[in-house]
Amino acid sequence: AKNPKNRYEIAVVQGDGIGPEVCGAGLAVMRAALGGDGILNFSEYRAGANCYRDTGTAFPAATYDACKAADAIFHGAAGIPGVTYPDGTEAGLDFGLQLRFRLDLFANIRPVKLHPGVSSPLSDAARTGIDYVILRENTEGFYAARGGGNLVRDDIASDTGIITRAGTERVVRKAFELSRLRNGALRDGRRRVTVCDKANVLRSLAFFRKVAQEVANDYPDIELDFALVDAMTVHLVRKPDFYDVIVTENMFGDIISDLGAATVGGMGMSPTAEIGDRNGFFQAAHGSAPDIAGQGIANPYGTILSAAMMLDWLGDRHGDARLTEGAERVRAAVAGCLTDGNLPGDLGGNARSDRITEDLCDRLAVMA
Ligand code: ATP
Ligand code: MG
Repeated sequence: AKNPKNRYEIAVVQGDGIGPEVCGAGLAVMRAALGGDGILNFSEYRAGANCYRDTGTAFPAATYDACKAADAIFHGAAGIPGVTYPDGTEAGLDFGLQLRFRLDLFANIRPVKLHPGVSSPLSDAARTGIDYVILRENTEGFYAARGGGNLVRDDIASDTGIITRAGTERVVRKAFELSRLRNGALRDGRRRVTVCDKANVLRSLAFFRKVAQEVANDYPDIELDFALVDAMTVHLVRKPDFYDVIVTENMFGDIISDLGAATVGGMGMSPTAEIGDRNGFFQAAHGSAPDIAGQGIANPYGTILSAAMMLDWLGDRHGDARLTEGAERVRAAVAGCLTDGNLPGDLGGNARSDRITEDLCDRLAVMA
């Protein structure tokens, strides 16, 4: 049901460490791309480690209610090492984890794209045309919070991996839909969904592959491909341009998406979207980077690219071209800035975060 709204409610949580810096950059860029606050209404809520320190709760009920009701959730970063619950776990990380499970954000989408002007450790041959998406199943697999079966004793410990038919079908379906939305992004114009697993060793992942194959029957226009996760790490270094959409189990997705990020400028350049049937949660792939917090030198591009993903997701979901066109302008501004060498410290430059944000806003002001 595509139904544009006049105005969309965005729940904003700035978070900890560099969270407020990169989040502020994302908000400024969205406002510049959409000509102010007319289309998106940003409301700020608290969660994370600082919130826990100040109020005794890391994820207040009011923040959860607002996130659940909002059209989308936009986040900086959460967590401060040493700010822990009495059991020693990091209080700040609860926000993202609880959102993921309580809102059933089953699809974790991590685009891997090498922008012009950004260097890559890959060979010249391999680095051309890196533009793929990793779709990580976000609620089960070897991080199966709902699986139980964990055992920790003095002499042995174990975890249980859970793959369900329903959980696999919905994420694989999402992979094919993403490939359609990308509309033949490969250089030869083809569409391809690669199922990344370990079907030769683990029964649960042989099942993942089988279910994926069944789902693929509904998408005859898209090529189906399989890769074992160990081989995948080699392919992503040697022939990344082969890939369009890669869909995989939770833990494998966690690992290969960090590998992918490292080939395109690192965590500071990598956006994330966590999507469910109703809610979407958008942030950069990096954490709160407490070592550089408050210095004004954080790389804001990952969060800004995540803002573009949010505009795209909202625009596509509601059939609202104002948003998808806004996303297009944000990406064009990012490409322009990077090409002109406006690079932060982690990319080898010396541009401060606010100079990058101003540059992006200036470019957007003449585009809108
Ligand atoms: P998390 O546990 O949330 O994944 P982490 O402990 O893996 O976080 P990050 O906070 O992601 O670690 O960052 C690791 C290091 O990378 C930081 O200490 C920082 O030096 C660098 N870094 C991360 N994000 C950025 C950024 N946006 N700009 C510049 N440097 C960054
Ligand atoms: Mg980490």
